[in-house]
Amino acid sequence: MMSKIPLVDLKAQYMAIRPEIEAAIQRVIESTAFINGPDVAAFEQEFAQFCGAAYAVGVASGTAALQLALQACGVGAGDEVITTAHTFCATAEAIVHAGARPVFVDIDPCSYTLAPEAVARAITPRTKAIVPVHLYGMPADMDAINAIAQQHGLFVIEDAAQAHGALYKGRPVGTLGHVACFSFYPGKNLGAYGDAGAVTTNDPAIARRVLALRDHGRAIGPDGKRSKYEHDQVGYGERLDTLQAAILRVKLRYLPEWTARRQMIAQRYLELLAGAPIGLPFTPPDRQSVWHLFVVRVRRRADIQAHLAAQGIETGIHYPIPLHLQKGFAYLGYRAGDLPHTEAAAQEVLSLPIYAELSEAQQVCVVHALREAGSCL
Ligand SMILES: *Cc1c(COP(=O)(O)O)cnc(C)c1O
Repeated sequence: MMSKIPLVDLKAQYMAIRPEIEAAIQRVIESTAFINGPDVAAFEQEFAQFCGAAYAVGVASGTAALQLALQACGVGAGDEVITTAHTFCATAEAIVHAGARPVFVDIDPCSYTLAPEAVARAITPRTKAIVPVHLYGMPADMDAINAIAQQHGLFVIEDAAQAHGALYKGRPVGTLGHVACFSFYPGKNLGAYGDAGAVTTNDPAIARRVLALRDHGRAIGPDGKRSKYEHDQVGYGERLDTLQAAILRVKLRYLPEWTARRQMIAQRYLELLAGAPIGLPFTPPDRQSVWHLFVVRVRRRADIQAHLAAQGIETGIHYPIPLHLQKGFAYLGYRAGDLPHTEAAAQEVLSLPIYAELSEAQQVCVVHALREAGSCL
């Protein structure tokens, strides 16, 4: 029996960078600057630079990033926000918590990202913003989405939770719309050791609003200093912890190397799986994925998953139930059949193990098991 192959291996990554991580944690504890410590501002500057953005604002999670970004754009009660149902539920939750109504439209079946023509059809006088999701690490079709937004005066808020460093026409995600939202959930390409997130933008007004909202609406003076006792608006306790910022600073230095490994691993999967009777991921030539997930399409998914599991290979489904068919969003009134490409994808997608430390031998095992399953099922 060979050793297990997990979907993602956080321990292997930690072992490779352990001394640096422990030094960073120790430094923060000794400084006792747990809230708004110097590592937060330093990480924000480094992450902004990584994204080619003028501003990055650290927040408590990717979900908080989305909610604060939406509010910073003025999204609120009575507004509609167009997004995809083929995503993690936080994308739509944030829209609801901002006070608006999510409007789900179908995906492009090849890229799994928002279909621009479906976005165009869903626009009403109430539409305020579009939230494209750069799913599985691949940017959405941003030129087409931005053109629609411009025509109707809408905000574009990127959900870049899965796509740190991904490129669209050579430009990194994070400044492709008005504002972008990142998650540093532990399993993401850049993961903290707990919850964390960030908002990036080139718009100083949006950056300022997110800065105030994350920290109880505290007034921010022209010198950039926060007032301790003046609260200009009702905000939130959604700050980025200094400890997480210090950990993220260490890991950000490795991210380009880890991304290159993921890209190499994805390329090898594509080569090893060529000709197999499964649907392989497609990357449009103007985009570069950072392969948060390597997602194939199969018919008898449950059988294939069981066959792989029996050999110690863990797989995932991202996502089995589209948001428009979740109980939590039933009040929006969608029905099965409303988003055919989304619903078909939900039935067939299967995520294979991918992470920077995945070895060639492990990959060969995964592919062997998959080919075996494909021919015997
Ligand atoms: C992970 C994720 C989020 C939420 O991020 P958290 O940090 O877990 O709150 C939002 N959108 C997408 C697409 C995600 O994958």
